[in-house]
Amino acid sequence: MKFLKIIRPVVPLDRVAACLQSQYGLIGTLSELYSERDLNCRLIEPGGAQWVVKIASIEENPAVIECQLQAMRHIERVDPTLPVPRVRQTTDGHDLTQIEDGAGATYFLYVLSFLPGDLAEDHPCDPEFVATIGRTVARLSIATRGFFHPAAGGRELLWDIRMAERFLPYTDRLTRPASRVMAHEIMTGLIERVLPRLDALRAQIIHGDIHRQNLIVDPLAPTRITGMIDFGDIIHAPIAMDLGNLAGEFLLTPDTGLTNLLALTDGYNKVTPLALEEIELIYDLTIGRALLAPLINRYRQTETPDSIDYIQASGETGLESIAALQEVGRPAVTSMLRDICLGQKSPGLTGMTGSGLAAASVTAMRSRRERLLGDSYLFYDPPLHMVRGEGIWLFDAEGRRYLDCYNNVPHIGHCHPAVVEALTRQIATLNTNTRYLGDAVLDYAERLGATMSGRLTACAFVNSGSEANDIAWQMAKSYTGNTGGLVMEFAYHGITEAIHGFSPSAAVNAAVPAHIRTLMPPDDYRGPYQRGTPNLAQLYADDADRAIESLAESGLKPAAFMVDSAFMTNGMLEAPEGYLAAVTDKLRAAGGLLIADEVQSGFGRMGTFMWGYRHHGVEPDIVTIGKPAGNGHPLGVVVTTPEILRHFQRQTAFFSTFGGNNVSCAAGLAVLDVIEREGLVANAGLSGAYLKRGLAALAERHALIGDVRGAGLALGVELVRDRHTLEPAKAETKRLLNLMRDEGVLIGSEGVHGNIIKIRPPIIFTPDHAEQVIQAMDRSLSRL
Ligand code: PMP
Repeated sequence: MKFLKIIRPVVPLDRVAACLQSQYGLIGTLSELYSERDLNCRLIEPGGAQWVVKIASIEENPAVIECQLQAMRHIERVDPTLPVPRVRQTTDGHDLTQIEDGAGATYFLYVLSFLPGDLAEDHPCDPEFVATIGRTVARLSIATRGFFHPAAGGRELLWDIRMAERFLPYTDRLTRPASRVMAHEIMTGLIERVLPRLDALRAQIIHGDIHRQNLIVDPLAPTRITGMIDFGDIIHAPIAMDLGNLAGEFLLTPDTGLTNLLALTDGYNKVTPLALEEIELIYDLTIGRALLAPLINRYRQTETPDSIDYIQASGETGLESIAALQEVGRPAVTSMLRDICLGQKSPGLTGMTGSGLAAASVTAMRSRRERLLGDSYLFYDPPLHMVRGEGIWLFDAEGRRYLDCYNNVPHIGHCHPAVVEALTRQIATLNTNTRYLGDAVLDYAERLGATMSGRLTACAFVNSGSEANDIAWQMAKSYTGNTGGLVMEFAYHGITEAIHGFSPSAAVNAAVPAHIRTLMPPDDYRGPYQRGTPNLAQLYADDADRAIESLAESGLKPAAFMVDSAFMTNGMLEAPEGYLAAVTDKLRAAGGLLIADEVQSGFGRMGTFMWGYRHHGVEPDIVTIGKPAGNGHPLGVVVTTPEILRHFQRQTAFFSTFGGNNVSCAAGLAVLDVIEREGLVANAGLSGAYLKRGLAALAERHALIGDVRGAGLALGVELVRDRHTLEPAKAETKRLLNLMRDEGVLIGSEGVHGNIIKIRPPIIFTPDHAEQVIQAMDRSLSRL
């Protein structure tokens, strides 16, 4: 039981001071700090700067120290706003040095920044603060998610619940017989029921030891966390244990234990949504961890009675809180946790189970919808009732998960923790309009502009794609003085009255108003000029001459051509190279501006470039942005040249109450950060190409597949009954969507004939996901 012994280093402080001066060039006043197993000192430099000097126990594996230091460095890199200590290096650039105690023993020494503040245990712990702790610890774990060090695996750690077996003998040493029985039951339950299930859960390196003595808070605002310290228990473990360990430390009193557990879970789950398998173990992991304190204490009191005085001070108080939680019971607590995490009533509580409940609730919801929302269109038959999203996955009310290959709004994944965190932090701080000075909107505008060409640097902020297009159209009219519009046949650009005119796909009979002309889509599969025809781009582009002449016949000139760079409603067309540039030349010659609607095609959706228009080699005059910009938070932007914006502003008093508010911009900035940090534009290109190849290969076996096309993760599969007549397979397309839904893959359909499968997943999509789609499509096509 070496792991239970405490062998703390004893090194005279004058030796420590000498080492600090020679190795770090640090001088100052040293004083000793409390630590369970290391020798910790505080150094105050004459200028007031403070450092924590840590001398590790001789028992400590140097690789573990290295692991801690590298973890802190990693966190500093990936989430610099997290308040964790910074590692100070020696003057010759090492994280770690050695020190002798003068009696022949050598220890490792390292220096960390001192994080000022009070210990959280010296302040009240209300549920709101506890939820903040949950969120912050989840952020800490996200920050260590990409970190690995071999020393974090297989550690023999005193406080590791997975070693429950070794504590079993000490349950008999608790004072009260009832406590012994309770502790024995908890430990055996853990060993038999819980620990085997941990192996199947997602795991990573976690801090694993956040409690009120390791949390520093701002003395003036004690709910603000200014430090998370002591990485000594860093370990590779399931994420469920991260929360279980934390919650076990916050069963503070019998009265507050349950509230704290729920608040921590709520906070944690908001940043890192928990899976059902994890939620179901939280109760046991919490209680188990809470029980370790009295058991370890019992052991130490018996085996090393005078090693450390703090042992005498703490006793078996935690047992009362455990008993209080047990009184509520696992089923009730777990049901509450499920409600919190999944946002739904658990079927078990209503007395109905499984699919019976689901079917009944779908029918009830449908009629309620009809009553409240009218005849609104639903995907799939029967429709899906979604209750949760995480990354690429959506979860329905029955707990079934779906690979989401349809939703392009959660561009970097559903409920992305970086966006959730940014939104939460900002909405708790300030949310106002752009009538005040503020950095967020400027930072965001600058970052957006930097992703486009040099001319496009001026932004107008709105709340949706439709609004962005409406403002873009107004700008084009005011700048050019013209009033005619050009748009693709069967395009969609939004819902305002003006933009409805640019959305023939949403109009009865695809009609357009008198001031608008539609262009023939450059469809080289089904259109009049097909793949392989010489001068394809020019043949399609020449249709713009007809449209412009037709406007002229009505006494109109084009103010703008509005175009979706992905030709999504036309069926993810791959326009022939040079097509859009040729149309743009004709447009500009007639005095019109090019509005690139990047609501669908932007933010790397098409791979390779951040913006879809780059695929066409054109430079728009106005770019409109929506859907993915806020990853689900409403955010629309019109980006144009300063000249066009100023012209527009002189003619109108443009202002949008919500447009550019601090919260939306925080979301927008978080989205840009993640796209850049995780290389998602390139990912969309690579994963999209992989999927496209796989789908094209399916065409060899399934005659229904007429064409596979698109760029990046905006892919279309056109289904035809006959590859010569190209008869659209509309009914088959609809059936295929439902079969794919049954396979757990969500896709959509598109095109004037409704026969084109639309695949448009969040751009965190990987080749593994692509394999799932390809296989599901293969099986579904065979079953049609
Ligand atoms: N432009 C395009 C290309 C779109 O696909 C959409 C929405 N489907 C819009 C504009 C309108 O955006 P919103 O629904 O946010 O108003």
